Amino acid sequence: MPLSIMDRLRAGTVLGAEGYVFELERRGYIKAGPFVPEVVLDYPDALRELHREFLRAGADVMVALTYYAHREKLRDVGREGDLEAMNRQAVRLAREVANEGGALVAGNVCNTWAYDPDDPATRHVVRAMYAEQLGWAVEEGIDFVISETNDYLGEALIALEVIRDLGLPAMVTLAPTQPDQTRDGYVYAEACRILAAEGAQVVGLNCDRGPRTMLPLIGGIREAVDCAVAVQPVPYRTDETAPTMQTLRSSDGSRAFPIALDPFTCTRFEMARFASQASELGVDYVGICCGAGPHHVRAMAEALGREVPASKYSPSMDLHPMFRADVAAKDAAFLPTWSA
Ligand SMILES: [Zn+2]
Repeated sequence: MPLSIMDRLRAGTVLGAEGYVFELERRGYIKAGPFVPEVVLDYPDALRELHREFLRAGADVMVALTYYAHREKLRDVGREGDLEAMNRQAVRLAREVANEGGALVAGNVCNTWAYDPDDPATRHVVRAMYAEQLGWAVEEGIDFVISETNDYLGEALIALEVIRDLGLPAMVTLAPTQPDQTRDGYVYAEACRILAAEGAQVVGLNCDRGPRTMLPLIGGIREAVDCAVAVQPVPYRTDETAPTMQTLRSSDGSRAFPIALDPFTCTRFEMARFASQASELGVDYVGICCGAGPHHVRAMAEALGREVPASKYSPSMDLHPMFRADVAAKDAAFLPTWSA
């Protein structure tokens, strides 16, 4: 029986790994645009493999790929009839791989695009979407729930209510796309304080911002709450002029989001540094979101002082023919051309 999420958070830093939708899109199993995780039913082996790669890289939690597997989105791609099967299968696959390495399974819900703070009727629509998704997830067996990329505190609170009613620990994170507050006007730290007061066990931020523009938001949240804090940035080099991945511009001036972000990708070293910095700032659940690769996750795990299954193949540049101390004379002659 693996330790619960609360026990793990009490014992030390929990490492999260997400970004399944982006990575499986890159691999040819999800369509960019709608970003519906059709891979769950169409290519389960591809999803199983990515779970396994994150597990071997040190992720403590297998997040069921139910992101955007909600009624509104499935309708967009004409697969509303697959809603239940997709949600159930996503949890089963996460569980299957989690059991290979003692990881936990998180059910997952996200912003619905159905919520409108000015239209009270949408609250019921959103609640029903969360309740059906998480009802199936609970039946399949999850350890806790991650509600994420919330643009509105109001929508996040609906998710939290549904999770609480199910009696599960809730991790609720906000999408920091705006400079300093949610779309319904709550400064991020204040929104996190409210979520914690309403019973979320873990609160924080995920997605949209890279390490550099995510880090400055952490202190205020850490000060505002006593509960665990989660931060899962995207591995992209956002900066003061383009603080989110949505605002990054390619060299020709076009929008890089969401499928031309490659040149902005952080190295594993940058993500390792983020993991250390976040941990020092008191973040309890350190993770990574859209754009993540297993190499990032392994480097983050190792920065947190762990040796993970994939560490068996961590770099040994001292064994590289050109970089080793005893580089052969016939090869050393070419080194200057590698520095040109
Ligand atoms: Zn993301």
